[in-house]
Order: sequence, then structure tokens, then C-alpha cells
Amino acid sequence: MDKIKMITPLVEMDGDEMTRILWKWIKEILIEPFVDLKTEYYDLGLKHRDQTDDKVTVDSANATKKYGVAVKCATITPNAQRVEEYSLKKMYKSPNGTIRAMLDGTVFRAPILVDGITPYIPTWKKPIVIARHAYGDIYKAVDGLAGESKAELVYTDREGNKVTKLIHDFNGDGVVMAMHNTDKSIASFARACFNYALDLKLPLWFSTKDTISKVYDGRFKDIFNEIYQNEYKEKFESAGIEYMYTLIDDVVARIVRSEGGIVWACKNYDGDVMSDMVATAYGSLAMMTSVLVSPDGIYEYEAAHGTVTRHYYKYIKGEQTSTNPVATIFAWSGALRKRGELDGTKDLVDFANRLEKATIETIESGEMTGDLVGLFKKDGVTPKKLSSEDFLKAIAKRI
Ligand code: NAP
Ligand code: MG
Repeated sequence: MDKIKMITPLVEMDGDEMTRILWKWIKEILIEPFVDLKTEYYDLGLKHRDQTDDKVTVDSANATKKYGVAVKCATITPNAQRVEEYSLKKMYKSPNGTIRAMLDGTVFRAPILVDGITPYIPTWKKPIVIARHAYGDIYKAVDGLAGESKAELVYTDREGNKVTKLIHDFNGDGVVMAMHNTDKSIASFARACFNYALDLKLPLWFSTKDTISKVYDGRFKDIFNEIYQNEYKEKFESAGIEYMYTLIDDVVARIVRSEGGIVWACKNYDGDVMSDMVATAYGSLAMMTSVLVSPDGIYEYEAAHGTVTRHYYKYIKGEQTSTNPVATIFAWSGALRKRGELDGTKDLVDFANRLEKATIETIESGEMTGDLVGLFKKDGVTPKKLSSEDFLKAIAKRI
């Protein structure tokens, strides 16, 4: 059989621990036998990030800007314990944070649905995609303890004019916080959400708490509305999808009652919390995909989970593990499909679809990794736990 040809390389960002092992197997067992794989390889494994003073992360983000599509393995975000474990020169920042800042992207997370694994909310039949704004709010806030004092919010313009607002006159101990966002970042977030909803042909719901936070959250609402009216209304209408803005309380109620099949745009904190709720409700973090989309249409695909450290320590002791590779497989299929769409290579798009279908069918026929066995219930099918490698081989047979 002739292997499928690629025109433009994918940017490949390798990673750490168990996911680095899965990465190699996925390529060897599921991709390279079928595709004449072209990638520009960047090793974001912690050792190599340390050797390059983290320059490799910046280089990989620049390559992603150049080529347009990347696939990324999970990576360690170092903490004090990792600095010691790897004898690092310093405590590097999260690679995902660095890449996100350089691409000015929005993160979309979507569950992979399988017949046999029923969401905890059984009416959810289609994926709920969470779009999380990845800049500002409490993640860049300044906060502190306040004693008996008057807390004020002061902002000074370039001419030195000050505006002062009383936050609270404290008669006892308390806490204060100030946070910000920028119109530029909110507008990028809005465009990324509109583009992604059009891409998936799914309705877009956006929610904030603008009844309480009239100026702050009101600004988000207004910027979304202005961009929608000026740039996207016609495109949405011709795609037959709707854009709806409503209060977060209202969306939470609607989401629970829905069938899924929605892109839900969330402010930073809402997205952080709601994506964990949605992931858990669909069954497993190991079945959650993640894609970073920049406002100018650059895509970086990955799994939503981490490097699965506990399994890796077993693996290096020579034990067989049953780590779930599905989200990482879907990162590859997502990236290959997007590359195929951009290059007009139908074979590659078809292959990506076949790979996903084969993965889902393997699980539906009862062959899966250990994490899914307890969740799987289907008449006439007894779930069987396979090692990661055997599971990948079972998928390969179905491609
Ligand atoms: P994790 O790697 O997601 O794993 C947490 C636990 O979830 C695992 O111990 C395992 O549970 C289960 N799990 C996650 N993915 C699984 C899979 N594919 N198959 C089977 N079980 C899976 O999170 P963590 O342990 O908090 O973080 C480990 C490292 O990953 C950290 O260094 C962190 O910095 C990094 N991280 C990276 C990313 C990223 O690159 N996007 C994201 C998050 C975390 P059991 O042990 O009970 O089987
Ligand atoms: Mg969270």
C-alpha cells in the first residue's frame, strides 16, 4: 500500500513521562505505517528545555506561527520538586502558558464520546465544547489582606490625572483584590470563538455575570456583540447557527437540560471550573481533547490531561501500564485533519477520520484501557482491559 503523502510539515512538540512513551508508540503503530509523516520536530521534554534554557519552547511556538498547525505532547510544568528531580537550572514557566501567550490563543476542550460510556448527565448526546478565555481576571489579579483601613482603586493616566474609587472602608480585617482585562484580548477571544463555532458548525453561547458586574463583564458582552454584528452575523446566518449571549446562571441551567452540541464561551475562571465539571460529567479526563486556536487561525492540538506521572514510574520499573492514549491519538488526528484541509490533501483528511473511527470502534467492541473498564456498560459486550501497546495494536487492525 502506498503511504499517504503530506505537503506541509506538522509542528511536532514532544513531551514528558508516560505521554512521551505513548507518543512514540502512537507514531510507530498508528501513523507511520499509513502516512509518509512529515514533521518539524521540537523536543519539549524537560531535559531538553533545560539544555536550551527553554528556547526550544519559543522556537516551537514560532514554527507553529509559520506553518499553522502543531501537535503537542503533555509536558511537565516544573515545581520545586521537579527542579530537584531533573537538576534544573531554573523553575521554567509552563510551556502551555508560553505558547498560549505567543499565539494569543483561546483553548477549546471537547470530550470524545463513545457508545457504552454514558455521561453522568445521560441526556448529553453530543459534545459540549468549552472555550476558555486564557488571559487576565483573577489569574493576573493583585490581592492582599486589609486591616482597619480604607481600600481604594486608583488609576493614573499618562498625564498623571488620577481617578480614585472607594472599594471599602474596613472596620476590621478583610481582603481586597483588583483585576483587569484588555479590549484587545477580549476581542481576540471573541473572534477565536466565532471562528471555531463556524468551523464546527455549532451554536455559540457566551455567558458572564453582567447583571452584577455591569462595567467589567458588561465590556465582554459589548465587545462580543459588536464583533458579532460587524463581522460574523451573516456568516452565522448562512451556516444556520446561532450566537446567544445570556447570564451564566441561565447558561448553566440550559447546559444541564441540553443535548450538548454547543460551544460554550467562558471567561477565564468560569472556563477553568466548568471545563473540569464538563470533563468529569462525560466520564474521564483521558477522553478530553484540547486545541489552542489563535485569532488568525493557527491551531495547536493536544490532550487535556497531563504526563500521567504515576503510570510512568511503574513503566520505568518495567511494569506494563494501561494508560489511555485516546486523547493523544485525537490530538494527532485533529492536527493531521487540519493540515489536510489547509493543504487540500483529501487522503490525509480521510486518514484522520478513519483513525478516530477505528479508535472509537475498538472501545465500543470492548477493548480498552483500564481507566474505562469501570465506566463501560453495553449490552452483550464485556469490557476487556488491554495494555496501552495492545490497545494501540487493536486500533491499528481496524484502520
Ligand atoms: P495527570 O497527568 O493528568 O494525571 C492525573 C491522574 O489522572 C493520573 O494519575 C491518572 O489516574 C489519571 N489519568 C490522567 N490521564 C490519564 C490517561 N491518559 N490514562 C489513564 N489515566 C489517566 O495530572 P497530574 O498527575 O496532576 O500531572 C502530572 C504532570 O503533568 C505534572 O508535571 C503537570 O505539570 C503536567 N501537566 C501537563 C499538562 C499539559 O501539558 N497540558 C496538563 C496537566 C498537567 P490514576 O493514577 O488513578 O490511574
Ligand atoms: Mg481547573
